[in-house]
Amino acid sequence: MQDGPDGSLIFLSSHSMILEGWEKAVSARKTVAIIGAGPVGLAAAAHVLDRGMTPVVLESGPEAGHSVRQWQHVQLFSPWEYNVDKAAARLLAPTGWNSPDPAVYPTGAELLDRYIEPLATRTALRDAIRTSSRVIAVGRAGFDKAKTKGREAVPFEIRYRNGKGPETLRADAVIDASGTWASPNPAGAGGLRAIGEREAQPKIAYGMPDVLGRDRARYAGKTVAVLGAGHSAIGTLADLATLARQAPGTRPVWLLRGGNPEKSFGGGVNDKLAARGELGAHLASLVASGQVQVEAGFPVAAVSQTDGRLRIATSTACCGRSIVADELVVATGFRPDFSFLSEIRLRLDPAIEAPVALAPLIDPNEHSCGTVRPHGARELEHDDRGFYLAGMKSYGRAPTFLMITGYEQVRSIAADIAGDKEAAERLELELPETGVCTRGGVESGTPAAGCCGGPAPASVGACWADDASAKAAGKPGCGCS
Ligand SMILES: Cc1cc2nc3c(=O)[nH]c(=O)nc-3n(C[C@H](O)[C@H](O)[C@H](O)COP(=O)(O)OP(=O)(O)OC[C@H]3O[C@@H](n4cnc5c(N)ncnc54)[C@H](O)[C@@H]3O)c2cc1C
Repeated sequence: MQDGPDGSLIFLSSHSMILEGWEKAVSARKTVAIIGAGPVGLAAAAHVLDRGMTPVVLESGPEAGHSVRQWQHVQLFSPWEYNVDKAAARLLAPTGWNSPDPAVYPTGAELLDRYIEPLATRTALRDAIRTSSRVIAVGRAGFDKAKTKGREAVPFEIRYRNGKGPETLRADAVIDASGTWASPNPAGAGGLRAIGEREAQPKIAYGMPDVLGRDRARYAGKTVAVLGAGHSAIGTLADLATLARQAPGTRPVWLLRGGNPEKSFGGGVNDKLAARGELGAHLASLVASGQVQVEAGFPVAAVSQTDGRLRIATSTACCGRSIVADELVVATGFRPDFSFLSEIRLRLDPAIEAPVALAPLIDPNEHSCGTVRPHGARELEHDDRGFYLAGMKSYGRAPTFLMITGYEQVRSIAADIAGDKEAAERLELELPETGVCTRGGVESGTPAAGCCGGPAPASVGACWADDASAKAAGKPGCGCS
């Protein structure tokens, strides 16, 4: 006998109780390999444990949260409410963990100190995590990529290096949550390195250097060019403007490939993540007050060095635009590394490099709505059943990933691996809207209208109003299928 969904008592036949018990026993024997001990990899391990299965987390860094540690100086734009996974919180609770104030915005360092480290070292996950273990290859035991018959019956084989030599792990399923921090996009506008970019490395940083802390001496009193249009570029420009007030001679120069800097200012007060809105509004005021010089429509083609300084140019030939700077910060986003997945049958969108079912929801060519429809195992699986991409890596080259999305992804994936299809399909996640929408690169509607023209009329099979009207006009929809 057990409680029914509406609270009424239902009598389970002995057969279904035996089946349920057997399913639990079967899934309990499952081993799930998780690549990466970042916030999403750790959440995946917590959900796998929750389902009675055995997680093995392989982390290339010397500690959990290794990528977060590289940007620990950054203030997050999501409050604790959106940064803590539910299964992880359940694991932490009995350890005397004080859950942080949900409305407070932590820095990366606080996310590490107050959540990632306690989770990785003071809960049952500590026995599941193998640090300094870099995954170098994933395949199916005894089956190369081309071989099909019997493929699904064999375990995955994960090869990794842990300083003591190559190791092999066998697993029933694999969740790759290895992020994208380690593979930043280059400066070249075509996605390739700019001419001279490799040679100029000593004067180029990628991502978000700590200009007010660890890297202060490198940037103080210098002309610093920051290339990019997303949160990383905005955050670094804001910090450089602060440094300029403290260290005379510091000059932030914002290099933008696009022609419209306002597109980066975001939704301001309409952004449901206030800190994210404030970031954009702050940059707008720095630009308006001349504290940040803007060079818009500046696709970088070449970087050369003269007298110890960098000449950053839009063309390799004579007549393009160029600026001279002492340092260049490339904050043009990140891309996924699939080099160790060459034996896995991935199903990826050719442009975004995200799983094909997820790509239309996050395609920056289509829209930059923070409001991505909740998605789970179905959207994240590939032709090799039992292999899933999750976390920042699942978004491929798209920029709008939030931890809270990753936590929902891995809850659904763990349910799927455990055979609980109903729970895997049931998705519940409300994402904070950015307050701005671009679709097909064009601003659309007033922020108040919400994403893609706001919610769809209940009667039609569409996810947003615009999708509905496009379908009504006989078109396939507006890209959020
Ligand atoms: C500067 C910055 C600010 C951000 N701010 C926010 C925010 O405010 N709110 C929000 O929700 N999101 C934010 N994000 C986005 C995102 O949530 C974070 O990047 C988050 O860390 C992603 O978690 P993850 O577990 O998917 O990946 P990571 O945190 O990148 O973890 C991946 C882990 O995998 C390991 N790894 C990589 N390759 C291998 C390998 N081959 N073998 C084994 N291990 C490997 C890495 O060392 C790393 O520890 C921000 C991102 C950045 C870069």
